[in-house]
Amino acid sequence: MVATPIGNLDDFSPRAVKTLKQVNLIAAEDTRHSKPLLRHFGISTPLIAMHEHNEREAMQNILARLKENQSIALISDAGTPLISDPGFPLVRECHQLGIRVCPIPGASAAICAISAAGLPSDRFLFEGFLPRTQAARRERLQGLKHEHCTLVFYESNHRIRESLQDMQLVFGADRPALLARELTKLHETLISAPLDELLQQVEADPMQRKGEIVLLVAGAEKKADAEQTAEATRILEILLKELPVKQAAALTAQITGEKKNQLYQEALALRDPPKS
Ligand code: SAM
Repeated sequence: MVATPIGNLDDFSPRAVKTLKQVNLIAAEDTRHSKPLLRHFGISTPLIAMHEHNEREAMQNILARLKENQSIALISDAGTPLISDPGFPLVRECHQLGIRVCPIPGASAAICAISAAGLPSDRFLFEGFLPRTQAARRERLQGLKHEHCTLVFYESNHRIRESLQDMQLVFGADRPALLARELTKLHETLISAPLDELLQQVEADPMQRKGEIVLLVAGAEKKADAEQTAEATRILEILLKELPVKQAAALTAQITGEKKNQLYQEALALRDPPKS
């Protein structure tokens, strides 16, 4: 698994170049896309294509060659293979067959953006690409509303406006965020601002809707524990007046982000208080 640059060719590691020269074959997501890069670094190893449309067939071919003790490198168009890119079934199969898989690390847009975002980086959730349709996108975002860790999205420049609008709607206008565009390239831009300001800037300046984009959103703020628990109990009490214990606990968990099991126990106690 060999990482290639996400823009700046100086990020191609000597180890990656050496590996690509030494292997018998390079499986590339798009051979036409990778050829100029490989030529630039004097890599003349034969190429085969493995992309999302031929992944299963290509995988069988690759596995057959690996079983004959050939060494094969997998690269994607840019960055680290398998990160929103093809390769997962192949790697899983290699592990099942006892074929050694060796990562040659390098650039990945998500990690690159996190390192410069100024948002908490101790815990983050990589979400990759959001669904294309508005209803599915909003549903996905709704499910992330109470996540406390930093959220990392890959976004197409065609949909950046719509995604920011939906994020503002679901997460709130003042949620801190970062738009990282064209990382490691000539027009690299990092804009750190709350979601509403980010949306305004993207709407006002068409440049901000060009190129490749990673979007980071801060996690939901943690309320003080006592405050949060009191709020959950209040909601649970209201719901218990209308709903069975299990449903009330599940809904309260969804609304507050508190643990369902804990709320279920609390709901049981509220419904049938212990006799003194
Ligand atoms: N495997 C790649 C990686 O490790 O980052 C990601 C592949 S994914 C198909 C492509 C997406 O990654 C782009 O749509 C964009 O969201 C993000 N991306 C890739 N290169 C980027 C760059 N130079 N600047 C910002 N985002 C980038």
